[in-house]
Amino acid sequence: MTGARRRLLETLREKGIRDLSVLRAFEMTPRHAFVPTGVRHRAYEDSSLPIGSGQTISQPSIHARYLEILAFKGGERVLEIGTGSGYQTVLLSHLVAQVFTIERIPALYTMAREAIQRAGAKNVSMLLGDGTVGWREYSPYDAILVSAGGPSVPQPLVDQLADGGRMLVPVGGHEEQILKLVTKRGGQVETTDVAPVRFVPLYGTHGWEQQ
Ligand code: SAM
Repeated sequence: MTGARRRLLETLREKGIRDLSVLRAFEMTPRHAFVPTGVRHRAYEDSSLPIGSGQTISQPSIHARYLEILAFKGGERVLEIGTGSGYQTVLLSHLVAQVFTIERIPALYTMAREAIQRAGAKNVSMLLGDGTVGWREYSPYDAILVSAGGPSVPQPLVDQLADGGRMLVPVGGHEEQILKLVTKRGGQVETTDVAPVRFVPLYGTHGWEQQ
């Protein structure tokens, strides 16, 4: 592991990330392989970075927070909405049994597919399309991670959560949102606020109107 990646792990620990399996996933995943060459020198900063098509790779500490909250045990089937660079997809691939991921922008989908293959992740299935309608074919999911912010919680994603399943989804305006934790148990759905966050917009049938 490079010194820069080691420093990122130190930053994550300083920011309160304690889950050893989450830290190990960061240790195993080379973030520089998921960002464009122009920002590669900043790959191990704890900041979001541009990845093209007006989108960003999220801040590592936000990824770590998502993964720590969901406290995976290893056998889960997980749906990710907003593949982006594919970095979080590969972090997830180290923590769960099967990852299903959806991206709506063709150029990002293609770049992420190559980066995920190069990283050697074998338990990832990818789809190009509108993630706000989910991926019914492989549902239900033990967890759903939404990496873009919409005006409300997309109902198809709630429907595709398994009993006992959990979803993290940013809900609010175009600039700022509240990260919501949605849990489903015995047919009952409960939603709690986790923290204020800033994500790029979630476009689609159950998100913001497509641009
Ligand atoms: N977690 C990603 C990573 O590690 O690079 C960062 C994702 S970026 C903040 C959000 C992504 O969500 C963008 O790539 C954007 O194109 C995608 N997105 C927005 N709306 C979407 C939708 N309806 N379906 C699928 N992807 C969507």
